Amino acid sequence: MLLPSLLFTASLAAASRIATDPHSYANTNDVTTRTLTLELSVDFEQRALNGTAEWSLDWHNTSARELVLDTRDLDIQKVEAIDAQGGAHPVRFVVDKRDPILGSALRIALDAQAPAVRVQYKTSPDASGLQWMTPAQTAGKQHPFMFSQSESIHARSWVPLQDTPSVRFTYTARVHVPHELRAVMSAPNDAAHALDGDFRFAMDKPIPSYLLAIAVGDIAARTTGPRTAVYAEPSVVDAAATEFADTEKMIETTEKLYGPYRWGRYDILVLPPSFPYGGMENPCMTFATPTVIAGDKSLVSLIAHELAHSWSGNLVTNARWRDMWLNEGFTTYVENRIVEAVYGKAQADEQFILAADELRGEVKDTPKDDQRLVPDFQGRDPDDAGSDFAYTKGAWLLRTLEASYGRDVFDAYLRGYFDHFAFQSITTSEMLAYLDENLIRKHPGKMTLDAVNAWIEKPGIPADARVPESPRFNAIAAARKEWLAGKRSAEALDAKSWNTQEWMYFLDGMPDKVSTPLLQKLDAAYHLTGTGNAEVARRWYLIAIRNDYKPARTAMADYMTRIGRRYLVVPLYEALAKTPDGNAFARSVYAKARAGYHPLTQASIEKALGMRKK
Ligand SMILES: [Zn+2]
Repeated sequence: MLLPSLLFTASLAAASRIATDPHSYANTNDVTTRTLTLELSVDFEQRALNGTAEWSLDWHNTSARELVLDTRDLDIQKVEAIDAQGGAHPVRFVVDKRDPILGSALRIALDAQAPAVRVQYKTSPDASGLQWMTPAQTAGKQHPFMFSQSESIHARSWVPLQDTPSVRFTYTARVHVPHELRAVMSAPNDAAHALDGDFRFAMDKPIPSYLLAIAVGDIAARTTGPRTAVYAEPSVVDAAATEFADTEKMIETTEKLYGPYRWGRYDILVLPPSFPYGGMENPCMTFATPTVIAGDKSLVSLIAHELAHSWSGNLVTNARWRDMWLNEGFTTYVENRIVEAVYGKAQADEQFILAADELRGEVKDTPKDDQRLVPDFQGRDPDDAGSDFAYTKGAWLLRTLEASYGRDVFDAYLRGYFDHFAFQSITTSEMLAYLDENLIRKHPGKMTLDAVNAWIEKPGIPADARVPESPRFNAIAAARKEWLAGKRSAEALDAKSWNTQEWMYFLDGMPDKVSTPLLQKLDAAYHLTGTGNAEVARRWYLIAIRNDYKPARTAMADYMTRIGRRYLVVPLYEALAKTPDGNAFARSVYAKARAGYHPLTQASIEKALGMRKK
């Protein structure tokens, strides 16, 4: 029997395909791409990928004769229609004028509804989704390195495709690289693959375009478990394998909560320090910043986060970018559950309190619409439109649901949600229809749909938002107060036993102004200037900038030059830009650091320093 609820969900799913994605030119109502066959040659000299992308097509509209793909700065050389016998026939195409956010539509005119098309193309050296690094910009200094970052809408800069998360496809790829280098992709990888310059990949699970990923470099591999390995430059790989040794434990934990891991292998590629993000959940192969290698596993919640995306995001995906909280809010919630199971409730609570405090601090400076869980992204670059509200407020809503229904009920519900929408891309209304049917109406008297909608539709943080208590944090807050009042010395803070989260809490709660002698004594007691912990360093240097604490400057400049992760370095540039002296210092650091930064990081910094308008 077909339940009315299923009919409701099905009609919503159909409607969402009709609701076009404002960040894609693709005519997905007429035709969708099903399978990609990619053949690429990686040319480090020209900083280009050369090759062909062949797409098999599902036609939905019998009168349609056009296929529109998204591109950005691609040199399209030839387009062929592939007939049922495999014969190739050149067809007409035009590349539209470039839009600064969306790139250019590639319009392919077909005489008939071909089962497949093949596009021959070359990428630009400035492709927004690729970073080409010289040997000098790598840890090993011997070989060049290239990696992709496709989320949100950068896949179109290296493959012509329907660049919308509402469309899923499977792919096979053959990648030709210089002989001494290894290629990896967002597909099962083989750590034992010979370095023969010829790599083949097959991703047989349907993925959205933003999860298409590639990296090429001097990459070594270490096995860390039955289905896990760490890939990195040879000088980094052992430290990375030690830091990420708990990955299999994390997978098993998540499987117990939310059902089987469906992607086969879970490998981690540690990128050079210029990677602009913390991590990217590319299926089968998470890409990660080396800045989470703290030596004590204290920052591996980043891996918990990327792993969580194997359920929330990669398995159940936002259909449009404005629904991004379905990816990031759910993932931030699951991440915290993994941390709790593997590292204990105290640490999980500490991490949530830090995030909640940060979000509260952002309410004042964030436009009201962007504080909603489904903000309006129309006409905006989705890279700029994402915020902590999608992550932290989204996770906070799920915590509120968990608290209302109890963990047993909510865990079972969430597992059912992942199963129900597995390998689909959905909108917030579809999520809500399922929530109403399977949680709210099944367990009346706990939380209303109106209360859930208030979280989604209204700005700010709702009054029913709860925060856990942390006795450790409370003790640190009390100690900080005494220290600031001069009633306790820096040594007597007893901070040697603090974990990373506790240091972050201590530093986050500092007043804007702290006297130089206090900072000097704190620094002398705990060697904060030059700390190897990237999160602690970020906070300490922000305090140093606010208080013009000059002894930190040399180490700060080194940190800003070594690291290209936007979250870590952009706030430092923004804080420095507030004074003429700071701005001059920041510009001199940037002049040296620029070459090692990703274009996304460069853009944010140049904006912060007033070097470009937008
Ligand atoms: Zn995420």
